[in-house]
Amino acid sequence: MVRADNLSFTYSGGKAIRFPDFEIPSGEHALLLGQSGSGKTTLLHLLGGLLRGYSGTLQVDGTELSSLSETKLDHFRGKRLGFIFQRNHLISALSVEKNLIMAPYLAGLPISHKRVNEVLEHLGLAEKKHSSVLELSQGQAQRVAIARAVLNNPPIILADEPTSALDDGNCRKVIDLLIQVANEAKATLLVATHDQRLKDKISHQVILKPVV
Ligand code: ADP
Ligand code: MG
Repeated sequence: MVRADNLSFTYSGGKAIRFPDFEIPSGEHALLLGQSGSGKTTLLHLLGGLLRGYSGTLQVDGTELSSLSETKLDHFRGKRLGFIFQRNHLISALSVEKNLIMAPYLAGLPISHKRVNEVLEHLGLAEKKHSSVLELSQGQAQRVAIARAVLNNPPIILADEPTSALDDGNCRKVIDLLIQVANEAKATLLVATHDQRLKDKISHQVILKPVV
């Protein structure tokens, strides 16, 4: 369960970004919609504990994020969250396989090659295992980013504009795959987007208003 009440955040010297109240039950999916600058990325970063110092309430599975110490928050992020960024943030010096291994490595979890192979297979990337990420198409790279985000089986998946850079065909494939892997893992999925093509894919929508 992810829940926000009276949540707001102010960057130093900026205006307060006020978020609508919302509650997303465990295992359900939601779109965070809003114009550019409305605070979608900020909300995902708050949820991921990458930004601290909000006012109001922000709870994940009953835990108020502001109550966690830095160390607990790092732990929480590594074990419970999968992140997919707009630009996939893959490490270009590493192969597809090694990019995936970063997920358990950074979370301090044991590395399972069986799990890596299973996820690569599932996302149609098995033959790219040893490729450099520089050789991938945008659609393939975004699938690797999804693979890395789901590798640790996180109960919460956060995706920031995962399809904005993709053509219609890849957009459909990537969002369908993301929904499918989230469903299979019974994960809660939050997708921030201004991509109109996703509106029919996920019915629960949280609408962010422009910052005034
Ligand atoms: P969105 O993802 O919906 O485009 P953002 O969360 O990126 O919106 O931005 C929300 C507002 O916060 C914008 O006005 C933006 O300029 C501002 N903002 C974003 N990141 C920073 C930052 N690191 N420092 C100061 N202001 C920021
Ligand atoms: Mg953004």
